[in-house]
Parts: sequence; structure tokens; C-alpha cells
Amino acid sequence: MRVLVNGATGKMGQEICKAIENSSDLTLVGGVNASGRLLPGVEIFTDLSQALQITKAQVVVDFTTPEAVKNNMEVCFAAKVPMVIGTTGFTEEDLEQWQARAQAGGWKAIIAPNFAIGAILLMKFSQEAVTFFQKAEIIEYHHAQKLDAPSGTALRTQALMANKHSQPIPIHSVRLPGLVAHQEVIFGLPGQTLTIRHDSTNRESFMPGILLAISKISEIDGVVLGLEHILFTEI
Ligand code: NAP
Repeated sequence: MRVLVNGATGKMGQEICKAIENSSDLTLVGGVNASGRLLPGVEIFTDLSQALQITKAQVVVDFTTPEAVKNNMEVCFAAKVPMVIGTTGFTEEDLEQWQARAQAGGWKAIIAPNFAIGAILLMKFSQEAVTFFQKAEIIEYHHAQKLDAPSGTALRTQALMANKHSQPIPIHSVRLPGLVAHQEVIFGLPGQTLTIRHDSTNRESFMPGILLAISKISEIDGVVLGLEHILFTEI
């Protein structure tokens, strides 16, 4: 499969380019960014439409910014090229609108706020635990350059837990140098607490999930929200 990476020169994009190059069944056909910044060994474009035409990419992976991703989706939607999207910063309304448009327009995308297996399991276990506790709070910790707060993972965890619980679930966001991507969910009852924590200490943690999503993209219909739908259920 011919893969184009949007945001190829970013912190995530560079790791993704390496992971695709090391994969036996994927071909990295180029990268896109805003500045024209170069990445050794990868053909870089600054215009996504032009990159699609020249590279004949079959899937676009997007790890850019909350501002850029929506326009990138418009371009891929118009060209009918499916996307694997890790960029965060979407609202629930954005996601609902894109699900409806994709279904009507015959377009496919996997949008996941977190591609690390440990984070997917944290969300799954938190949904189970919340029904047993009176209150729960989420603390997410990220590197200081992260543009959005709360994180997409924290918002998704909150939404999944809120389906099973009547109390509000607050989110606290910490931004500090030295952090990568970490999250705790703390559950409380009189006399006891339960803490579930996940740490991505290295961006390598996201790569198996991203490669899996790319390999499954042709099998899905419309927009799939969350890697859990690819990992845990037949599609
Ligand atoms: P980053 O280091 O700032 O990289 C952003 C990249 O996007 C850069 O290559 C930048 O280009 C490019 N870019 C900016 N505007 C663009 C535009 N208009 N068109 C094309 N490219 C554009 O950010 P990061 O840490 O890699 O994170 C990227 C996104 O992934 C964030 O939303 C983050 O929250 C998310 N993320 C998701 C997961 C997950 O598992 N889903 C994991 C980690 C991060 P230049 O190089 O030219 O500046």
C-alpha cells in the first residue's frame, strides 16, 4: 500500500516514516508539511492535493495540528483517498459531522486519539471500573509543546466513562518538559481509591497501532472512531 504522511517532519511524523520504511507491506511515497522542512530520504511536499496527484497515495496518515487537519480531510474526502488520523483537537460535533459525511460520500477514515495499546486498555478498564465507584477524575500529562488541552485521549476516556456514570468526570491537564504522553484515572469510594495509569515513554508506543490501522483501512466503512473497534471487534 502506498502511504503519504502528512506532518512527516513532526515528532510523530518522523517516527511514522521510519516505521513505514521498516514495514514489509507498506511503501512510503512521500511526506507533507507546512514549512517545506526537509526529511532525509523522503520526498516532501507542501501542498496535499499536489502530493496526492504525484504520489498516487492509497492512504494518507495525518499527524499535524488541530487547525490543519480539517482542511486535510476536505482534500482527501474530495480525492476519495482514505485517512488514518491521529491528530487531536476534534470536538464531538466535528466527529459526528464527519461520520455522516463519510457515510454519505463513500469515504473512509480511522480517527483515534491514541494508538498505544496500553491507552486503549486503560479506556476499556476505566469504563468497567467506573460503574463500581462514586466518583472518578482524569489527570493527563503531556510534553510542553502539545497544542490542545485537554488531550484527545482524556476527552475520549471521559466520553466513554460518562456513558456508564451519572456523575461528572473532571479532567486535569499537566504540560511539562520531560513528559511524553501519560494518563491516570483515579476512582474513589469511602475508604479506598483505585488508580489506572498508562505511560507512553517513547513515541514507538504508537507505531504498531498506526501500522495496524493502515493495514485495515480498506476493510472499514465510513469513519471509525477509536482503535478499539479494530482491535476488539470484527469489522
Ligand atoms: P509536531 O511535532 O508539532 O508536528 C506537527 C507536524 O505537522 C509538523 O511536521 C508540521 O510541519 C506539520 N504541519 C503543521 N501545519 C501543517 C499543515 N497546514 N499542513 C501540513 N502539515 C502541517 O506535533 P506532534 O507531536 O508530532 O503531534 C502531531 C499531532 O498528533 C498532535 O495533534 C498530537 O496531539 C497528535 N498525537 C496523537 C497521538 C495518537 O496516538 N493519536 C500520539 C501522539 C500525538 P513543519 O515540520 O513544517 O512544522
